[in-house]
Amino acid sequence: MRKKLAAANWKMNLTVDQSIVLINQIKPELIHLNSTPYTQVLFAVPFPLITTVQNLLKGCLNVFVAAQNCYQKLNGAYTGEVSAELLESLNVKYVIVGHSERRQIFNESNSLIKEKIDILLSKNISPIFCCGESLEIRESGQENEFVLNQLEESLFHLTPNQFKNIVIAYEPIWAIGTGKTATNEQAQAMHKFIRSKIANKYSNELAQEITILYGGSVKGNNAKEIFKQEDVDGGLIGGASLNSKEFSNIIKALI
Ligand code: PEP
Repeated sequence: MRKKLAAANWKMNLTVDQSIVLINQIKPELIHLNSTPYTQVLFAVPFPLITTVQNLLKGCLNVFVAAQNCYQKLNGAYTGEVSAELLESLNVKYVIVGHSERRQIFNESNSLIKEKIDILLSKNISPIFCCGESLEIRESGQENEFVLNQLEESLFHLTPNQFKNIVIAYEPIWAIGTGKTATNEQAQAMHKFIRSKIANKYSNELAQEITILYGGSVKGNNAKEIFKQEDVDGGLIGGASLNSKEFSNIIKALI
């Protein structure tokens, strides 16, 4: 049975005090995850908040703190960067890689993301691999080829055993932070396409095990419909994860 996930991406938001308030407001909803081993909630927080949020979530089962990025080298003279080794020592189990903001603002390429994936897997951390096309690509009907190329260049070098630890987040760039969600049909079609390509490359059995999240303007009031789609296994949530009511409703929609 494959895992279902609701992953909050706080991006560069919230102070220590604000994060304490938010987690305490969401906590009552997290109790329901105590008996759902295949349903998990993640909070991808800025690095300095990792320990604070982990402490707040002590005792919550199936809830994890994730990071939003890491550097592609094991350690060394890379001022300002954070290693997978350090994240492992903090007991971080998931790290987002290849978010479209990192691709666009920090020029991260498929091959750089591949290096990050390799380093994370070497530290037993599951990468949450973000992929997705721009509006221009969608309008030209090239979205499948574009996403396939992202998979091929960053993921398809992995062995089947390594691939099992990957979570994929399909996030059409035109839907991120815009209030414009992909339709249920558009999300399902792309998720099915991604799963079919994993099946072609590896096996159908492996493809059926991989969690594929949808991201892009998921809110409390549209999450249920999106999560109902056969190949959608949850969501990566930006804006709505900063609002306790919204994110609690998203968790409810997942369970
Ligand atoms: C994201 O940044 O990963 C995201 C999906 O953002 P939003 O939910 O705000 O569209």
